[in-house]
Amino acid sequence: MRDDETDYLVVGAGAAAMAFTDALLTHTSATVTIVDRRHAPGGHWVDAYPYVRLHQPSAFYGVDSVPLGDDALDAVGSNAGCYERASAAELCAYFERVMQQRFLPTGRVRYLPCTDYEGEGRIVSRLSGATRELGVRRKVVDTTYLEGSIPATSPPPFAVADGVRLVTPGQLARLDRAATRFVVIGGGKTALDTCAWLLEQGVAPGAIRWIRPRDGWWLNRRFQQPHALLPELYRGASLQIEACAQATSLDDLFARLEREGVFLRIDPDVAPTMFRGAIVSEAELDRLRTIEDVVRMGHVRAIERDVVALEEGRVPTDERGEERAREVGVLVPVRD
Ligand SMILES: Cc1cc2nc3c(=O)[nH]c(=O)nc-3n(C[C@H](O)[C@H](O)[C@H](O)COP(=O)(O)OP(=O)(O)OC[C@H]3O[C@@H](n4cnc5c(N)ncnc54)[C@H](O)[C@@H]3O)c2cc1C
Repeated sequence: MRDDETDYLVVGAGAAAMAFTDALLTHTSATVTIVDRRHAPGGHWVDAYPYVRLHQPSAFYGVDSVPLGDDALDAVGSNAGCYERASAAELCAYFERVMQQRFLPTGRVRYLPCTDYEGEGRIVSRLSGATRELGVRRKVVDTTYLEGSIPATSPPPFAVADGVRLVTPGQLARLDRAATRFVVIGGGKTALDTCAWLLEQGVAPGAIRWIRPRDGWWLNRRFQQPHALLPELYRGASLQIEACAQATSLDDLFARLEREGVFLRIDPDVAPTMFRGAIVSEAELDRLRTIEDVVRMGHVRAIERDVVALEEGRVPTDERGEERAREVGVLVPVRD
């Protein structure tokens, strides 16, 4: 494989790039150069918070030619009775193994980590600054168009006053000193994971304030299972089709899907205004319902020393002012 030419230049080494390259290796004799600004394959999983797991079973994720996980049924925890879900660490190890054991030994893949793609076949090493032009015989395949921004690599989308103790979900798992209370900001899957993880670690529900700009609909994991539980997946699909056929309005459709247990929400008294297709278990939601201090005043605009300013109001950071310094705000997805 010549150093300055390639059939395909794949930009990004995340799940999309890895799956695409795997398919190219299986179905063609093409050569591929993969560039990613991150230091390891796996895309955003490389910087993910440590307590994140796939929200669907591992069997439904990864590249086609290399199975992910052992297809074990979880026996404990909020996923008990369902198929295993890979953690961020497992996903990173998996993509590393795919690269080292499957891609590189073919002699048809060149992998350039810590490398930026600048367009027009031009790549720049983040380590040496060296720039190169690659001759691309077939196509540049840009897998970055779905790339999201994550708190680990993006600044908060609101002002934060000096002295406020604000951490990302990744930093939360590595706190250097204890906190009296936690304020979790966000209504999406990362916020849900963060609250569930804090509760799992033994943090009292009363020590958590959850700033939830919006409530969401969630898919029930019971209906997203492979292998021996596949009949449940088909049952879930047929319930959805039946609900679509019978519904008289959009609200009626969601009501029917909720009645059948296909769609879930945390608070039955609050109408969800978002649906991102994320999957949760009923046990997880039961646990999350123990958090009663939920702030619904829109998105956070600024965190001042003693007050969180939101779109629709202001809440004190901690009524017990003297303890404010020991309170931790947890920033969750930038685009929530
Ligand atoms: C916290 C979190 C949890 C998720 N959980 C799930 C889940 O459980 N199940 C599911 O199906 N999906 C999940 N997703 C969705 C996830 O986006 C996809 O599963 C998938 O990992 C996305 O892969 P990707 O390759 O499209 O993007 P990414 O993983 O974002 O990879 C894109 C890569 O491109 C690189 N890049 C970008 N621009 C350049 C450039 N100019 N030069 C060089 N490199 C560049 C980036 O460094 C990055 O590594 C989750 C997403 C997040 C953020």
